Order: sequence, then C-alpha cells, then structure tokens
Amino acid sequence: RPRHPLLAVDAVHAHYGKSHVLQGVSLQVADGELVTLLGRNGAGKTTTLKTIAGVMPPSQGRVRFGDEELSRLATHQVAKRGICLVPEHRGVFKLLTVEENLLLGQRKNSPWQLADVYRIFPRLKERRNNGGGQLSGGEQKMLAIGRALMNAPRLLMLDEPVEGLAPVIVEEIVAQLKVIRAAGVAILLVEQNLEVCTQLADRHYIIEQGAIVHEATNAAFLADDEVKDRYLGVG
Ligand code: ATP
Repeated sequence: RPRHPLLAVDAVHAHYGKSHVLQGVSLQVADGELVTLLGRNGAGKTTTLKTIAGVMPPSQGRVRFGDEELSRLATHQVAKRGICLVPEHRGVFKLLTVEENLLLGQRKNSPWQLADVYRIFPRLKERRNNGGGQLSGGEQKMLAIGRALMNAPRLLMLDEPVEGLAPVIVEEIVAQLKVIRAAGVAILLVEQNLEVCTQLADRHYIIEQGAIVHEATNAAFLADDEVKDRYLGVG
C-alpha cells in the first residue's frame, strides 16, 4: 500500500436516491501505479470511478488527489487536476473524424501531442480522417483512451476497456496500456477479464456490496485461488 498515494479514496459512501450503493470504499493509487478494482456485477465499481471523477458527489467520505481534496469539485475541475475517466460506453463523437476527436481532448501545454498518441495507436493514425462512427469497437476504445491522453492525465481511469472485443484486439490494447503506464501515467482499471488484469496490475482491490473486502499485490492474487473463487466466482 503506497505511503504517499497520488489518489486516496477514504471511506466514501454514495447513494442513488435511497439506494446506498457505496458503503465506505477506501483505496489508494500511487503515482505511476496500475491498480485494478475487481468485483461482481453491481458491486459498485463504476460508481466508485464516477465518485472519484466528480460525476457523482459522495454522500460521505473524502477523495484526495495529491495534496488536494476533490470531494466537492465538479467533473471539469477534477479533469483539470489530471484525472480522466474513460467510460464503458460513449466516449467517441461519431460525426467527427478521429483526429478531430483527439484534438477535442487536447489541453493547453499537454505533453501528449497527436504524434505521441499515433505512435501508441497506429490504427488511429491510419484512420485519422475517418469518422468516429466508422471505427470498429476496438478502435473506438483506442480513440477514447487516446483522447483522454491528450488531456494530460496523471491518473487514467478505465471502465471495462476490453469488454466485448476480439482476443487479438484485447492483446493490442493490453500492450498499449503497458506503454501508457510506462510513460508514468497512473491507471485505475475496472475490467472483468482477469487475465488482462493480472497481465497489467501492480495491485488489486476487490469490492463487494459497496465496500473493499480484499486487497492484494498481483503476485499474491495470482497465487490465491480461494480469493478468486470466493469473491469473483473463478479460480
Ligand atoms: P457492472 O459491472 O454491472 O457495471 P458495477 O460494479 O460497476 O457493476 P455499479 O454500476 O457501480 O456496479 O452499480 C452498483 C449498484 O448501483 C448496482 O446495484 C446498480 O444496480 C446500482 N445503480 C447503478 N447505476 C444506477 C443508477 N443510475 N440509478 C440507480 N441505481 C444504480
């Protein structure tokens, strides 16, 4: 567990109306670290990401990023501080070209320029003049991630980035995420594909009914069939 985390989520609660979905989530991500949030359907993974991103205000608890408290900030203010959420669906403007989509994400003085994104995602370069809607599902995911990079994130949050994609595309995205992570971007990953998670992660958290029930390094998680079976129904 990092001593001086980049992101610290501290006992966060969240509600949808009367439904008490997050019941005290605590987790940390260090600078440059790749951490997954695992759990069954409906456990609260997406809601946790939304709470960090400022899409949903926590009803209790705190979110700290660097030295700053985020819990009261709006989405655009959170984004400005370097947190980007790539949601499971949406994320691509279908009527704009690939390049227009990327430029839309660009922040002033961002170290990530078009050429950097094209180096990581050569398919996007090939398709730079195509409309977002003409891309395959995998290419759309790449575009959403590429656009987030243009916004110079210190923490990239990805919600199911390889869901529904063919195995060769999944491998491509795994390799691309390794490059992004090697460039120093911390990543908080929600993903059902455990093989992808264990290929990438430094650490894992498991969430159940809105609370973290287990935390492990990747090596410990890989060796622990009981945990995989108990919380995820695999192993
Ligand atoms: P999944 O993999 O199925 O997306 P998840 O772990 O990401 O699961 P969440 O999407 O965070 O889970 O949902 C947590 C709980 O909150 C679920 O019981 C879900 O039904 C409920 N929920 C999610 N979004 C809403 C909403 N907009 N309004 C009401 N309840 C919601």
